[in-house]
Amino acid sequence: KTKERFQMQGLFEEILAFLYPNIVDVNANMTCNIDPAFILDGYKDEIKQVFINIISNALDALQKKVGDKEVVIEAFQKADVAVIRIANNGAPIPVDLLPVIFEPFFTTKELGTGIGLYVCKEIIEKHGGTITCESTEERTVFSMEFLL
Ligand code: ADP
Ligand code: MG
Repeated sequence: KTKERFQMQGLFEEILAFLYPNIVDVNANMTCNIDPAFILDGYKDEIKQVFINIISNALDALQKKVGDKEVVIEAFQKADVAVIRIANNGAPIPVDLLPVIFEPFFTTKELGTGIGLYVCKEIIEKHGGTITCESTEERTVFSMEFLL
């Protein structure tokens, strides 16, 4: 397995195609705003898994919601940093849980594994990046940043 240079836009096309049945099932409105010039150097399969995990969680958070269900994905590079943000407008993560969501086996789901976000953090950090989460009544946002 080797690192490769890949276009973020193409990767998200693959991911949304893969998650299409879940998106339809949840009836979520997906907004994707990816800079076509966004190229990343990395292990594409691993980075793909990160975004699949985060979008899957966003869809889980919207599953039981009544009304407007939004997932907003944006990826851009500014100055010397590359940013990917995945947001949804589901029920917020309680503040006291925010520090533990990246820990292995932490889950609030009946059939959850609690492995998803742990794996995300491992992969992002292995690529030299950071992953953070902010959650308010309006939206929950996962932000990943890489120094270029
Ligand atoms: P799992 O999905 O198996 O529960 P994860 O590691 O993917 O495990 O997520 C851990 C926990 O973080 C979830 O159980 C949930 O409580 C919380 N979480 C993650 N993403 C979101 C989100 N977008 N909205 C609300 N809660 C979330
Ligand atoms: Mg998960």
